[in-house]
Amino acid sequence: MTGDAPSAYEAAYCPRCGTETDEKRIDGRLRCWCPECDVVHWRAAVPVVGVAVVDRAAGTVLAFEHDRTGKFDLPSGHQELPESAAETAARELREETNLAVDPDALELFDVTVKRHPLGRYNFSTTFVVAASETTGDVEPETDADVVEWTTPTDAAARESAFVPGVVDVIEAAVDAVGGVDDTA
Ligand SMILES: [Zn+2]
Repeated sequence: MTGDAPSAYEAAYCPRCGTETDEKRIDGRLRCWCPECDVVHWRAAVPVVGVAVVDRAAGTVLAFEHDRTGKFDLPSGHQELPESAAETAARELREETNLAVDPDALELFDVTVKRHPLGRYNFSTTFVVAASETTGDVEPETDADVVEWTTPTDAAARESAFVPGVVDVIEAAVDAVGGVDDTA
């Protein structure tokens, strides 16, 4: 089906009853609607959570290349209840890079809606933390092909290799932890 609004996903069939969905104009906008249940399946953005780990001495942020999209992103993924957002960020960090961090050490710094390379719209919450708060050695884990530390300048120079919007977040993350620490 097609719509005139950004969609988180396109439900071709009703998740409740399996009937093929239709569209219905409500409040001036076409909505995904089940004619059998007479229920609207709202196009809510899917929540995802990520974390920017900043090495203040090097002025770098940890990014990884996702094996399904070929794009670099911050360690991130879907929040699975009953996880808190910070718990999701810590789990994804460990799953994708092998670094461990206490969820309580994470600071919230960016909330936005962004489009995933596979087409969904995500409601994206990003935390920031200094690398000194993490433990373990970086190595690619589940879903990751390559894990690397990148400076905002290097990321901007090859912006097309990143998920749209992530380069700006990388730049802001370094500032969020107080900038590059030359004395470290
Ligand atoms: Zn239905």
